[in-house]
Amino acid sequence: MNVQDMISTLVIGGGIGGLSLARELAVRGLPVTVLEKAPQLNPVGAGIIMNPNAMRVLERNGLAEAVRLDSWPYLVRETCDSRGRSLAMRDYRPLYEAGKLSVGALVHRAHLLDVLYRSLPPAAVRFNVGVRSIDVLSDRVRAETGRGEVFEADLLVGADGIHSQVRSRLFGEIRPRYMGYRSHRLIVDNEAGVRHFTEFLGRGQRIGLVPISAARLYVWTTFNSPQAQPPVFDSVSRFRDAFRQFTDARIARVFSQLRSMDGVISTDIEEMALDEWTRGRAALLGDAVHPMTPNIGQGAGMAMEDAAVLAQEIYSGGPDALIRYARRRKPRVETVVRISREVGTDGQRSSPVGCWLRNRRIRREGRNAEKMQADLERLLA
Ligand SMILES: Cc1cc2nc3c(=O)[nH]c(=O)nc-3n(C[C@H](O)[C@H](O)[C@H](O)COP(=O)(O)OP(=O)(O)OC[C@H]3O[C@@H](n4cnc5c(N)ncnc54)[C@H](O)[C@@H]3O)c2cc1C
Repeated sequence: MNVQDMISTLVIGGGIGGLSLARELAVRGLPVTVLEKAPQLNPVGAGIIMNPNAMRVLERNGLAEAVRLDSWPYLVRETCDSRGRSLAMRDYRPLYEAGKLSVGALVHRAHLLDVLYRSLPPAAVRFNVGVRSIDVLSDRVRAETGRGEVFEADLLVGADGIHSQVRSRLFGEIRPRYMGYRSHRLIVDNEAGVRHFTEFLGRGQRIGLVPISAARLYVWTTFNSPQAQPPVFDSVSRFRDAFRQFTDARIARVFSQLRSMDGVISTDIEEMALDEWTRGRAALLGDAVHPMTPNIGQGAGMAMEDAAVLAQEIYSGGPDALIRYARRRKPRVETVVRISREVGTDGQRSSPVGCWLRNRRIRREGRNAEKMQADLERLLA
């Protein structure tokens, strides 16, 4: 038995980040237990964009093929105005063909979680286990569940999402910042025949249509909304009416398919930055440490990159493994969080002049394919 075999990790939270870390540790032969409070895999009923950098992580840990089996390739992203007039096409194919990026995938969250979960050793994930208290001691970590069960390990990782209890326990109560807009997510049959990721920019609102298979379409919206006044969308007609500025036929088709608001998920868009990611034998990962706006589809991608780097550092060993992890990840995450925030600010513009200037700029930038590809490569390689 070598040194690495002895390092055991207790992961709190079995979402995309926690399961990714378990996979990364398991492929390195390191023992891991994940405690998940939900009684079973707990996917949000929505799609997710696995950008090329996320797919590269999955290629390296051996799961990309399984994810791609039930997905739609992310080849092109088209940006349109609220009437459906094309402003720009971001074409990833030359970068894929040149081997510069892994091919991105558009998938259902349930499928992604299922692939991650099935890749783990039996009993690596314990469901229905809500953690009540944690102790980070000098020689080990300890977690006690609501039912009085005790788990011990060498290291503890909080992957318990935006409202992380582990974060509160380690660093006190820190609230994420509301960014001024909310989002809806839903999945419908792809009756609109959308073949590539198509985004529509309006005044203070956006809509995205994302095929996740030939038959299914993931739909997201964003809309400006004061924090204290969440809108009441208690009927499909109210929902449709709120987005009436979008007159494209594909969007009209999607709205016409909706029979009720059941299954439409509404989320406040929030962000948070922490200076410290680790304390003693404990570290945070994914949304627990850097919840970000969803504007460039990178929250889960960053959680997966966190997982790969953290597992590498744990495997390399040494008392400063967690500190090395945080040092390697923070600059990259800070850049991605900033870019995502800026894209959101631009996308949520509401003045007519501001929107007109934005759309004109996007059209102009879209003509410079070379620069666009260089930017994509820098962010997504
Ligand atoms: C509108 C929207 C769209 C998005 N689109 C994309 C996208 O296209 N691409 C992308 O990469 N990212 C996207 N994201 C971001 C992405 O969803 C998150 O970054 C990602 O899910 C974070 O994973 P996580 O594992 O860190 O946290 P979570 O997914 O929140 O998982 C945390 C897990 O911990 C469990 N848990 C919580 N507390 C406890 C406890 N005390 N004990 C045990 N278990 C606990 C929860 O049940 C949950 O299963 C989007 C986000 C939003 C809001």
